[in-house]
Amino acid sequence: MTGRTDGTGDLRPGIYGFCSWHRAYAYGVRVVSLVAEGRGATFVLYACGGCRALYGLTPRADRP
Ligand SMILES: [Zn+2]
Repeated sequence: MTGRTDGTGDLRPGIYGFCSWHRAYAYGVRVVSLVAEGRGATFVLYACGGCRALYGLTPRADRP
């Protein structure tokens, strides 16, 4: 079986889910949480690698 990269920990295939940005299922999605300013609500969304790069999203697990 393949499915691992060495070191990066970010581009592992096999994490299959719905990307909320391009609105389709994709491999390599990560949890990205968004805070709605003024409402105090947090939305948990998933973004694929391409959309994270395109929109400058940071996976929640990668934040300090
Ligand atoms: Zn996407």
